[in-house]
Amino acid sequence: MTYIITEPCVNVKDGACIDVCPVDCIYTTPDTNQMFIAPDECIDCAACEPVCPVAAIFAEDQTPANMKQYVPLNYNFFKGKDMNELKELTRAAPRKVNEAH
Ligand code: SF4
Ligand code: SF4
Repeated sequence: MTYIITEPCVNVKDGACIDVCPVDCIYTTPDTNQMFIAPDECIDCAACEPVCPVAAIFAEDQTPANMKQYVPLNYNFFKGKDMNELKELTRAAPRKVNEAH
């Protein structure tokens, strides 16, 4: 399984989840409006879920019905992407700390 990041993260992207993820599997790019969790890397530890200030993170099988479209969106974000390049892009992406708190 994996965890999924949903709509409330859009344009928030404060990065609180990135700070607590023990395996660094949460990614974005400077041009992407939310964070995504790499399904193949997530170890289902649940550490990210409670720290999200907008409650955007769910276990995949607990994703609310009105957010289900974010499951394929999360998987598709990683298709064809170079993970090393994505790590660099994630580091370079701005965090909108003030909007989230
Ligand atoms: S559940 Fe754990 S491993 Fe998966 S994204 Fe969240 S913090 Fe990272
Ligand atoms: S903690 Fe929540 S709002 Fe902040 S970047 Fe992660 S998923 Fe988005």
